[in-house]
Amino acid sequence: MDRRALFTGDFGLDRAAKQPSAPPPVVVDEAFQRQCEARLAEMRAMAPLAGFDLRGILARNKLSRRRFLQWSAGITAALALPTTFTSQVAEAAELMGRIPVIWIEGQSCTGNTEAFLRASAPTVGELILQSLALQYHETIMAGAGFQAEQTLAAAAKQYAGKYVLVIEGSIPTGANGGYATNGASAQKFIDRVRDLSANAAAVIAAGSCASFGGIPAASPNPTGATRVSDVVSGVPVINIPACPMNPDNFVGTILHFVLTGQWPATDSLLRPTWAFGTLIHDNCPRRAHFDAGEYVQGWGDEAAQNNFCLYKMGCKGPYTSNNCPSIGYNENTSWPIRAGHGCIGCSQPAFWDELAFERPLATQVHGPGIFGLGLQSSVDKFGAGLVAVAGVGIAVHAVASGISRRGSRERRSDDVEADETSIES
Ligand code: SF4
Repeated sequence: MDRRALFTGDFGLDRAAKQPSAPPPVVVDEAFQRQCEARLAEMRAMAPLAGFDLRGILARNKLSRRRFLQWSAGITAALALPTTFTSQVAEAAELMGRIPVIWIEGQSCTGNTEAFLRASAPTVGELILQSLALQYHETIMAGAGFQAEQTLAAAAKQYAGKYVLVIEGSIPTGANGGYATNGASAQKFIDRVRDLSANAAAVIAAGSCASFGGIPAASPNPTGATRVSDVVSGVPVINIPACPMNPDNFVGTILHFVLTGQWPATDSLLRPTWAFGTLIHDNCPRRAHFDAGEYVQGWGDEAAQNNFCLYKMGCKGPYTSNNCPSIGYNENTSWPIRAGHGCIGCSQPAFWDELAFERPLATQVHGPGIFGLGLQSSVDKFGAGLVAVAGVGIAVHAVASGISRRGSRERRSDDVEADETSIES
């Protein structure tokens, strides 16, 4: 398989439509209100699947009702719903245990599972994930061997057409799919994906490996690793990329389904627009420093200590769509840029080969182009609109910052020129 074709092809979608934009506003009218009320009544009427009691899980982890409602208010805002929906979102979270979930894993480090299982102090979102009615999950289930296989077969039969299939990890296609097998029966992972997705209500690709191939698909991709949407057809596929995916983005997507009966709108990369509709650069807390031309030039320098912009250290926030600045990780205690490292673009396709290095994109991958940003090559990777907008912004700010610094600071002119050369080269 031509790996580059895998990641730079048009995915059968309109490339011009790949520009991130603000998430479309949710139309909240009386009809939407009635739709949500009817959906919650439907969910309430469904028998809860045994053992998945959110209130009990929260109590055991000493998380108060007040904290749970605070979390619900946050996720309500993230879903672009008015605050009046907070109580309904909270109820939807409590009803999530009615949705049967089958979770399978292929080529992956299990990072997405670990992200919500191994927290020393689990967040509300992580605990809600634990309240999911997981019918099968190789990492956390007690059963093993043929017993586990029987559990999977029984769940797939009992909940046919109703279960959400979560796929973690990429899918190897090389050696006729033989690079990854599952369970005592050694079923090829690609066959397991095809079998289980055929009877699923929807498929969620959890993390960047499942969404876009991720690290297993990085060059030279010896196993022919590919993404879920290349293998699954006939059912909705929702990608929740990032490395690891943010548990709140996963929970919010299922919450939307529980609350409205519909999966959220997605962008051309099948990512929910409520979570991936804006560039990290547009909401970055360091953006004012980017606008002022104040850049970190080396790890630990004075600019780094002052939380200046990390663009020159390779930050890929101008090319990456995700809600990290607003939702963060670990109950929003931090995220990469807040912690002092640039964004590595982990929620974009081919991030490991083309984004995750500590140098600006233009100088290392695409060579000089318009404004020094390698525009033509970048267009091929990210879409004309996105790079044109980000590229013009970067170039304009670089020039403007040089002018500003010449006027406002008594810096030596050769230092300024060195700065401009560095950012534009
Ligand atoms: S380049 Fe990175 S650090 Fe700088 S403003 Fe943009 S996202 Fe933030």
